[in-house]
Amino acid sequence: MSVQNVLDLIKEKNIEFVDFRFIDLSGRAHHITLPASEVEAETFVNGVAFDGSSIPGFRGIEESDMVMMPDAETAYVDPFTAHSTLIIMSNIHTPDGERYERDPRSIAHKAEEYLQQAGVGTDAFFAPESEFFIFDEVRYESTMNSSSFFVDSEEAAWNTNRKEDGGNLGFKVGVKGGYVPVAPVDSQQDIRSEMVRLLQESGLRVERHHHEVATAGQAEINFRFDTLTKTADNLMKYKYIVHNTARQYGKVATFMPKPMFGDNGSGMHVHMSIFNEGTPLFWEKGAYANLSEIALNYIGGILYHAPALIAITNPSTNSFKRLVPGYEAPVNLVFSKGNRSAAVRIPVAAVTPKGCRIEFRTPDSTANPYLAFAAMLMAGLDGIKRKIDPRALGYGPFDTNIYELSDEEKKEIRSVPGTLDEALDALEADYAFLTEGGVFTKEFIDNYVGFKRAEAKSVAIRVHPHEYGLYFDC
Ligand code: GLU
Ligand code: MG
Ligand code: MG
Repeated sequence: MSVQNVLDLIKEKNIEFVDFRFIDLSGRAHHITLPASEVEAETFVNGVAFDGSSIPGFRGIEESDMVMMPDAETAYVDPFTAHSTLIIMSNIHTPDGERYERDPRSIAHKAEEYLQQAGVGTDAFFAPESEFFIFDEVRYESTMNSSSFFVDSEEAAWNTNRKEDGGNLGFKVGVKGGYVPVAPVDSQQDIRSEMVRLLQESGLRVERHHHEVATAGQAEINFRFDTLTKTADNLMKYKYIVHNTARQYGKVATFMPKPMFGDNGSGMHVHMSIFNEGTPLFWEKGAYANLSEIALNYIGGILYHAPALIAITNPSTNSFKRLVPGYEAPVNLVFSKGNRSAAVRIPVAAVTPKGCRIEFRTPDSTANPYLAFAAMLMAGLDGIKRKIDPRALGYGPFDTNIYELSDEEKKEIRSVPGTLDEALDALEADYAFLTEGGVFTKEFIDNYVGFKRAEAKSVAIRVHPHEYGLYFDC
């Protein structure tokens, strides 16, 4: 959509407001709204000013003036506002007209430019599977006191979930019992369908939706792949619509990776492939999982850099509570054609040459999608550039159940970092692959690490409910 298209749309649809949005360091959207009568062609040239010093992770108070430069192509009508409102995503510029180096969208664009320069292919495609929970709306205080925060086994979690619902136990979803049963066990068909309807109305091509494995309303909606920045924009739209549809139903949706101990968490598996002028570069018929050398090297780059990469794809303290054995979340830095405990899986069912792709299963939706997709692409491209062979480095393929290997065999397998701080240590030790072509800067990474260390510390210094069980009666 061009600027002229946007201005025409405002007239045709009697749009009353235009909502300009940008993304902060942690991947949250912020907005400033203008009456549509104030929006003209110049708005797209001069931008919309805002105070960058009030945004976490952005500039200091001494350099507060920032400008949103709207990207007309991203416009869509907000399905939730009482007054008809057009949402437009923006890039962030400094007052002297430069792109702001901490703007996640700027980094995503630079990664796409780097792909062009790298001479590997013309397009990189991304498709995230962003899982989430739909919970009944409860007050924060009562959540904190909920007995589910004290359960310490799957059995206890199952009993707690059943009890909390009250009444008889018929048609209740048990722990890990939520994968695709029909209604009345699946009580969230309508809310997911409404989410899908609004996503489609807002321009997303949705492929399917279903109840996920965990109890208590875990859900997944899949939308079609696209290029890097477009997919990140689509994910922002997806989260906005999921959160606000839930709100309309008197529920809350959360993308937090591990809201409940003892049941599956929510991942954001990311499918990736590279094409050159329409030709898929990851496919080679007859090879292992029909994967080309380029695809294997891409996997090599992802796995080799994974400990550092995970500081960007799993950037919360809660992320590491999901990355534990037994819940279909990956803990092993290996690749495999079917194994769900592997960090990289290669889907093989119903795959055509064009659909040939790799699935990085580690990420979760606390990731800033612009930074996460950019970092994954940089790791994969580094693997291709340095011809990193994942087989030679002991990353697999492993097609057996890794949980059942002997201790000796398991010793050979590397694991994901255990905490956010460990991942940040890895990022500090291995970031050169990100700064290739100036995509990420050292200054950006230092600021990011500092920002995330402060978050980890804020959690570490707080007293946890489980500590009462462990230590209160000492
Ligand atoms: N919820 C699982 C995770 O945490 C994944 C389940 C699936 O394979 O879709 O990654
Ligand atoms: Mg899933
Ligand atoms: Mg998946």
